[in-house]
Amino acid sequence: MVNSSSQLTRHSRQQTPERQAARPSAGQQHVDTFDVVVIGGGIGGFTLAKAMMKAERASNGHRHKQPLRIRLIDPQPAFIFRPYLYETLNGRQPSVDRKPFFDQWGEACQYVQGSAEWIEWAPSAETKSILHTTQGPLPFNVAVLATGARPNYYNIEGARQHTIPLLNPNHMARFQHAIDERLEQLAQIRRKQPYEYLQLPFYIIGAGPSGVELSFELNTYLHRQIVEHYPQELASLQPDIRLIEAEHNILPMASEKEQAIVMQHLLAAGIHVHSNNRVKLVTDTTLITESTHPDTKEVVETIWEVDLPPIWLAGIQANIPPRLLPENTEQLPGSDRVCVNDWLEIPGHANMYVIGDAAGVTDASGSVVPASSQATEQMAQYVADDILQYKRRHLPQRRKGFVFKNKGQVVSLGQHKAMLTPELLPKIPGLFDNLTMHGRHIAWLRQTYYDAKLT
Ligand SMILES: Cc1cc2nc3c(=O)[nH]c(=O)nc-3n(C[C@H](O)[C@H](O)[C@H](O)COP(=O)(O)OP(=O)(O)OC[C@H]3O[C@@H](n4cnc5c(N)ncnc54)[C@H](O)[C@@H]3O)c2cc1C
Repeated sequence: MVNSSSQLTRHSRQQTPERQAARPSAGQQHVDTFDVVVIGGGIGGFTLAKAMMKAERASNGHRHKQPLRIRLIDPQPAFIFRPYLYETLNGRQPSVDRKPFFDQWGEACQYVQGSAEWIEWAPSAETKSILHTTQGPLPFNVAVLATGARPNYYNIEGARQHTIPLLNPNHMARFQHAIDERLEQLAQIRRKQPYEYLQLPFYIIGAGPSGVELSFELNTYLHRQIVEHYPQELASLQPDIRLIEAEHNILPMASEKEQAIVMQHLLAAGIHVHSNNRVKLVTDTTLITESTHPDTKEVVETIWEVDLPPIWLAGIQANIPPRLLPENTEQLPGSDRVCVNDWLEIPGHANMYVIGDAAGVTDASGSVVPASSQATEQMAQYVADDILQYKRRHLPQRRKGFVFKNKGQVVSLGQHKAMLTPELLPKIPGLFDNLTMHGRHIAWLRQTYYDAKLT
């Protein structure tokens, strides 16, 4: 991992003005706070801040000699709940303003709107390190890195330039604008030439949970727009959503039964799945994929003409600003996520934790814990407890390491439909074994559970 810049090393042993300012001068009345900085206020950072403040409130009266002070830094003023992002197409609000949440905690938990830039590491455990940000320096006893993920383009030519990633509301707004413009163009063509053959192909690259969920939302959005705005001109136009997947099956991590259920719903919605199609090249007018024959291994190339940029949902990689990591930080083998120890700390750096999509954590079977909101929330809760119970109290006895508990998955299958995997159901022998549930009630459960995250 790239982090051994000579600049970082040079700064790390110096007494800078910020470090001196972090120490009390002789005779100065100084309350020594226990400072936690949280870098990134997405699902991981926000859950962690909430968990710590709730625990502090619950231990009311149990005064600690070092008051806790949390500073969470993120450039975005709103907390974005990413599982709801695609549903913005159909009117769902995926974000909440951070301010009201932080206002209730006063000095104890503050939101800083800005970006973390680099860390000046303390020469000893007794002094505070300093996080340098676009808003000034933040001294800390403990830092938690929760900077999430960014798209992985696997060095495929043209993928970065000619596709749209959908990771935040700006991407969604750009995508929605492109769709609306395209529909208007087609309507104008139809007004001038009533018998012109029109097509509306959309390419979504990657048929994991994100690609599947987006296809259903997009399908609903297109049908609604046509009915509401172009009932005359585009009534006969069938949206043609093409889900392109490199593997032989959709949802590569799901069971065969789950894949079959989702395939059934995709077919019923008229969404086309093109599996065994690995993207090789993207230009502004074409998408080129390769398929390998399972027996002969012959490779066949397909050229797809594109009107609108394809959506890139083929994978993610950890988003880690290199100057925020200590020297010699390692990546988890075979992955770009930061190697952490059993307590989610960077080995040899007990004052820095990594959680969420940026953290390289393995489960009991040795598999990398998935980049999901469920895993992220479990890590955030674990680290909140670890900081409060162990770091702040300086306990000699270390806690049990983090263990990921897979509680299953819920995949949205469009408006009012979702699928739930068996791990989420109660463990009663003989009952619910291998039962995959789907339907309106599961969609309602998903929504109720997710809405709670935004309050
Ligand atoms: C569109 C989409 C849909 C998803 N749907 C699901 C789903 O249905 N179910 C599920 O389990 N998982 C889902 N996921 C995955 C889930 O959202 C992630 O696993 C989870 O958000 C990871 O949390 P995180 O805190 O690590 O990162 P994020 O939630 O991505 O937050 C990272 C934060 O770090 C901030 N940041 C970045 N760099 C800096 C910096 N230098 N300084 C300060 N702040 C910085 C960013 O602004 C961002 O707010 C989805 C992901 C996406 C993108």
